[in-house]
Amino acid sequence: MAVKLPIYMDNHATTRVDPRVVEAMLPYFTEKFGNAASRNHEFGWKAEEAVETARGHVARLIHASPREIVFTSGATESDNLALKGVAEAYRKRGNHIITQATEHKAVLDTLKRLEQSGCEVTCLPVSKDGLVDPDDLRRAITPRTILLSIMHANNEIGVVQPIAEIGRIAKEKDVLFHVDAAQSVGKIPVDAEKDGVDLLALSAHKLYGPKGVGALYVRRKNPRVELAAMIDGGGHERGMRSGTLNVPGIVGLGKACEICQQEMAEEGERLRALRDKLKDAILAGLDNTFINGSMTQRLPQNLNLSFAGVEGEALLMGINDVAVSSGSACTSATLEPSHVLRALGVSEDLAHSSVRFGLGRFNTAEEVEYVAARVIETVKRLRELSPLYEAAKPRPPR
Ligand SMILES: *Cc1c(COP(=O)(O)O)cnc(C)c1O
Repeated sequence: MAVKLPIYMDNHATTRVDPRVVEAMLPYFTEKFGNAASRNHEFGWKAEEAVETARGHVARLIHASPREIVFTSGATESDNLALKGVAEAYRKRGNHIITQATEHKAVLDTLKRLEQSGCEVTCLPVSKDGLVDPDDLRRAITPRTILLSIMHANNEIGVVQPIAEIGRIAKEKDVLFHVDAAQSVGKIPVDAEKDGVDLLALSAHKLYGPKGVGALYVRRKNPRVELAAMIDGGGHERGMRSGTLNVPGIVGLGKACEICQQEMAEEGERLRALRDKLKDAILAGLDNTFINGSMTQRLPQNLNLSFAGVEGEALLMGINDVAVSSGSACTSATLEPSHVLRALGVSEDLAHSSVRFGLGRFNTAEEVEYVAARVIETVKRLRELSPLYEAAKPRPPR
C-alpha cells in the first residue's frame, strides 16, 4: 500500500481544484471568452448566462437569493468590502464595530485600518476552547454600534462560532452582522437567511475552486444592507464592485459550490472519521500532546495539536514529505506565535510547538496512517535529541 509522496494535508491554506471544476472552467478561456458586460452579441450573452448560473449555485449553498451575491477576488476583498463599506455607509448612525480575537488577518487588519480613520473597535476575548461568549457580545453593544464581525469556522483550529445565536442578538439589537465564512462554506451547512447573517465572505480556493475569486453575500431585505463601494468604475455587480468579471473564475466558484452542495454531508462524515483516526493514533503514540480548540464545536476536517518540547518548525522539517502548517499559513513568514493560539491562553512555547492538519477531499485513509506514523516517529526523535525535554518532562499546561 504505497502512498504517493508528498502528501498534502494543509487544506485550510488552499485546496486542489476539483477536476470537475477545471473542466467546467475551460470553455470560458477559449470559445466562450466574452465579456459578461457585452450586451450586443452572443459572446457577451454566453458569458453573462454562465455568471448568472454560477451566482445561483453560490446563493443556493448559503441559502441566499442570487441578487444578494457580489463576486470579488476572494475572501480578503470580501471582508474589506463588508467592513469598510458598512463603516462608510453607516457613519451617521455610529462608528463602533465589535469583533473577536481569533479572526483572520483579513478582518483584524482591516479593522486596524478603520480605527485609524475614526472607528472604535472592540475585540472580544475567547474561552480556552476558542469560542466567543454571546453574552459578552450582547454587553459590548452600545447605541453607537453598527456592526458585529464574527467568523464562522477558524482557519487554524477549525472552531465553529455560534453564529445563529449571534445573528439573533444582532437582530434584537438592530446592528449588522458580518461573517467571514471562508473556512465553513462548502464544509458545513451555512444558512445566511436563517442565521440572521447580513454580510458573508467566502472564497473559491478554500472549497476546491480556483484562486483569486470569491463572493460577498449582501442582504437585500430585513434589513437591506447599504454598502459604500471600494472600487469604482463601470458599476458592475450593482455598483458594489466594479471591474470586468472574472468569468472562468466565477464559473469555477459556481461549479465548486454545486459539488459541495451535493457532496458536503457525505464528505464531512468521511473526513471526520479520518481526522479522528489521525487524532487517536497520534494521541495513543505520544504523551504530552495537546489538542488546541474545542473538539465538539469544530470543522470535521481540522486537527490542531501542540507537541510539548518540540518546535513546530522543526517537526515540519522532520516530516518534509507531508505538507502541514505550524500556526497560520498567512503568518508563517514571521515567527510570531499564532495570535489564535495565544487568544486561547496557550503558552508561547506550546503555541510554537503547534501543528495544523487540514484534511480535504483528496486525502485517503492510507495517507492518514502514514502521516500519523511519521509524526509519532519524528516527535519521539526530536524529544530524544532534546536533553531539556528529557530532564523536565512537561506536565499538562492548563
Ligand atoms: C483564506 C481565508 C481568508 C482569505 O481568503 P482569500 O480568498 O485567500 O483572500 C479569509 N478568512 C479566512 C477565515 C480564511 O481562511
